[in-house]
Amino acid sequence: MNIGIWILGNQLSHENTALIASLSEQKNSKILFIESLNHVQERRYHQQKLMFIWSAMRHFAEELKADNWQVDYKIDLDFFPVLNKWILENNLQELRLMSPVDRPFLSMINTWKLPCKIVFYPNNNFLWQPEEFKQWASNRKRLILEDFYRESRKKWQILLTENQQPVGGKWNLDKENRQPPKKNLSPPQPLFFPPDNITLEVKNYLSTLDIDTYGNNDNFHWAVTRKDALKVLNHFLDRGLENFGKYQDAMITNQEFMWHSLISPYLNIGLLNPLEVIKAVEKTYLEKNYPLNSVEGYIRQILGWREYMYGIYHYVKEDYFQSNYFNHQQPLPEFFWDSKKTKMNCLKQVLKQTENTGYAHHIQRLMIISNYGLIAGISPQALENWFHSAYIDAYDWVMQTNVLGMGQFADGGVLASKPYASSANYINKMSDYCSNCQYNYKEKIGENACPFNYLYWDFLRRHEDKLKSQGRMSLVLKHLEKISPEEWEKIDKKLDYKVALLDRT
Ligand code: FAD
Ligand code: SF4
Repeated sequence: MNIGIWILGNQLSHENTALIASLSEQKNSKILFIESLNHVQERRYHQQKLMFIWSAMRHFAEELKADNWQVDYKIDLDFFPVLNKWILENNLQELRLMSPVDRPFLSMINTWKLPCKIVFYPNNNFLWQPEEFKQWASNRKRLILEDFYRESRKKWQILLTENQQPVGGKWNLDKENRQPPKKNLSPPQPLFFPPDNITLEVKNYLSTLDIDTYGNNDNFHWAVTRKDALKVLNHFLDRGLENFGKYQDAMITNQEFMWHSLISPYLNIGLLNPLEVIKAVEKTYLEKNYPLNSVEGYIRQILGWREYMYGIYHYVKEDYFQSNYFNHQQPLPEFFWDSKKTKMNCLKQVLKQTENTGYAHHIQRLMIISNYGLIAGISPQALENWFHSAYIDAYDWVMQTNVLGMGQFADGGVLASKPYASSANYINKMSDYCSNCQYNYKEKIGENACPFNYLYWDFLRRHEDKLKSQGRMSLVLKHLEKISPEEWEKIDKKLDYKVALLDRT
């Protein structure tokens, strides 16, 4: 039988299940990669995302050739015609493919009438298969990350004593992981890689294309092979992990990466495997006796959050992407596409960093950008589209859950137990951004009042009824009573959305 294996740009693992299933038939198998130009024009992608994926695909194709696979690499407009032609030309009887992680992509494939049988293999970029998650979730009154995380720890036997209890006595040490940044902190230098010939070739090619993109690729430093992705992981184990927990939520101007691991791009395209990362972190803990809050906190991100988000994405209804609990309709402000156009320093810093790297860490994404979107009433779908454009590690599975569910509370509480909304106080506590801002983080209504303050209070007032039904918001809502009618009048004056949202310099 002649077999075709189609490898997608986020399935670049030598353990790709379609490849593994074909090992014994290698001589009769051909592999296909497709760079689709129409696909990348569905939205404005970050230039570094395009470079990263295409370079990693081209490197992986070379690695497979060196392993004696027959590989075809096509650059064309659309997936279907290329695939169709390739199947006919090679007289293939079966097309094998590791299941795509994103639902729209899978639905698109399922509409195609291909000239041969197509067989899907389970996706092993995650530890939990969607069916296993569904089984875990069914019959539960409420889905809670903490329950799932404990189950995951037990299932994979991570950080457990012989009696199946958590090492150190507690399952979750999150309370120890919220330290504000101190003065003169010096996070480790990230491990960067100068672009090699293949990456430069992609960069040149990109410059010839007439497509709409975001950000810049002046400083592309990402790893594009498994070998280098492993170096990034080891660098983190040596220099980042020890202090990861303590400063996990802290933000400092010009310190884009802090103690974060920078491995989401690699996990999400298969260059690293989640279990190997988790095991390596556990082993480092045993060898180096690093603080448990860092080690547990880090493992929770991958074994807990990452798996949970993926599971929820496949568990919820297909129309989840349209969720809009607060019915927010404001358009995306122009400054999201150009950081120079805002005076709000926190947003300016995170957006500038995103333009230059395609990266921001979790709290920057959640409590600066997403928080602003939520309290300003921006359409969750417009915001999701922007996130998908802006970040090098963005895919549909991770956008819907993180942006719509966690960041915008657009699903009404399926994922988060309360909206992640905050005023400038939190930002001032966890960053140094406010000290260099023309707005005053302490002012709610004055001349220099920080937009995060009046937008926050207005958000609470606008949605008081809906928020009352969220038990965890009642304390915060009580503060609304303390605002006098005169103060509301002044807040209302501030709430000229054109000024608040477009906020040009
Ligand atoms: P670290 O802080 O070192 O964390 C380790 C790993 O944990 C990450 O690499 C990631 O794989 C995993 N992780 C932690 N939290 C999550 C989470 N909530 N969802 C999924 N994985 C998680 N992650 C993406 O991979 N792609 C995205 O496009 C993305 N967009 C986000 C948008 C918003 C609004 C929010 C709130 C979060 C988003 N995240 C996304 C999750 C998280 O912010 C990133 O995974 C993380 O910042 C990546 O950087 P890092 O590898 O240095 O992470
Ligand atoms: Fe952001 Fe307000 Fe602080 Fe300025 S004062 S950095 S706008 S939170």
